[in-house]
Amino acid sequence: MTPIIPSSSKLEILISAGEISGRVNALAGEIAQKLPSDLMIVSLLRGSFVFTSDLIRALHMAGTGSIWPQIDFMTLASYGRGTTSSGTIEVVRDMTEKVDGRDVLIVDDILESGRTLAYARDALMQRNAKSVQVAVLLEKPGKRKVDITADFVGFVIPDKFVVGYGLDYANYYRELPYIGVVTP
Ligand code: 5GP
Ligand code: MG
Repeated sequence: MTPIIPSSSKLEILISAGEISGRVNALAGEIAQKLPSDLMIVSLLRGSFVFTSDLIRALHMAGTGSIWPQIDFMTLASYGRGTTSSGTIEVVRDMTEKVDGRDVLIVDDILESGRTLAYARDALMQRNAKSVQVAVLLEKPGKRKVDITADFVGFVIPDKFVVGYGLDYANYYRELPYIGVVTP
């Protein structure tokens, strides 16, 4: 597939920076209420780094001293990705912290087929995490190929390929402060 070169593409805003920020704060409130204070956050790279960095600061504000998350990262990839998911998930870079006996919150950018999150959840359960919950910024409904539901969802979006706020196309657009749709 030919990469869409940012300068020659049109960007449409789907979710503004202000909307994202309001929703991330609300989500942090829910998480701070429901999850234990000694929480291990596993952020799935690369797409979720922006969401994670806003979420953990919102968690601090929402929890005001009652939630003390620890953060680690895991890079997963699925083979043959264009703008649709392929089947096989691969660990590109593993986390370094131990999760046995820990309450874990996986943070990802978007839930589509569910393969990425199901893989991560199963891997962490196999490592004897005490509990594994999932927070995603975005969810595309009706696209699930495996059985997984997110415990915390920022926005349910239409079935369009979105970029920005950490999400990429060909590693472009991650820096956008909003969620957008690209047209070449
Ligand atoms: P799943 O494994 O649930 O099919 O897909 C999850 C992963 O696919 C996400 O972490 C993300 O990397 C990628 N993905 C799915 N939909 C989109 C999209 O609309 N835009 C972008 N940039 N990535 C997507
Ligand atoms: Mg991803």
